[in-house]
Formats: sequence, C-alpha cells, structure tokens
Amino acid sequence: MASPNRSGKCILIVEDNRLNMKLFSAMVAAQGYGVLQADDGLRGLDLARQEHPDLIIMDVDLPGISGLEATRLLKAAADTRDIPIIITTAYEYDDEMRASGCDGYMSKPIGVADFVELIDSLMARNPQPRFVLRMIEDSISAG
Ligand code: MN
Repeated sequence: MASPNRSGKCILIVEDNRLNMKLFSAMVAAQGYGVLQADDGLRGLDLARQEHPDLIIMDVDLPGISGLEATRLLKAAADTRDIPIIITTAYEYDDEMRASGCDGYMSKPIGVADFVELIDSLMARNPQPRFVLRMIEDSISAG
C-alpha cells in the first residue's frame, strides 16, 4: 500500500534484508515520500507494474528473481521504463549492473546524505533520468 504524503510521490523499496528495509524506509519517509515495500524480486516487479512508483530502490540479491533481472524487465517494458531505478548493493558496480539499465547505483553500506541527494536528483529529473553514479571511484580503486 502506498502511504499518503504531501508530495504525492512514492518510492518502492525492494530489499530482503529487514534492517536495510527499515533504514531505507525511514529515510524515504523522512524526505516526505510515500513508501512501498517488497522483500522479493517478483513482488517488487508486481508492485512496480501495479503502482507505478516515482522511483525504485532495488537490492541485487533477492529471493525470486534478482534485482538486476527485475530491473531489466522493468526497463524493457514501455509502461515502466521511465521509472528511475537505483541499484543498492555491497557488490562493486559492474557491466551487468550497467547493462540492466539502472539509473543510479549506491554501494552498501550507504551514506545517508549521498543517498538522499541521489534520490532527490532522480526525482527532479526532467524529462529523462540522468545517470547518477555514486561511490564508484572507491569501488574502482579497491578493485
Ligand atoms: Mn538482499
């Protein structure tokens, strides 16, 4: 269920880790956005298609189908491809993530300020989402 909010905008969080789900939901709600939650890939896919959220925060490792597969399917469909998707994972950003068509990436553990900024920048997009990459340099130098 979408919770009502002033902005009228809603963010779908697809995350199977309870602690991360709590954290992300609290941050999203604190920004005034409504929150939709799914703890597996298929449920996330269904909710995205039914509710057409304004943005999706997508984990990679999920029960059902992976977050990357869900992202590929949403980006391949005309009615959902415009929904910005932020991939959140402890994995380093790679070609498979890039190929999924995601609009942004955030490495876990996430930095709250960066996360909020990334969400706001994608929410403010007009007319097309601008690819936003965060914390990639750290991943590259670590690899
Ligand atoms: Mn997971």
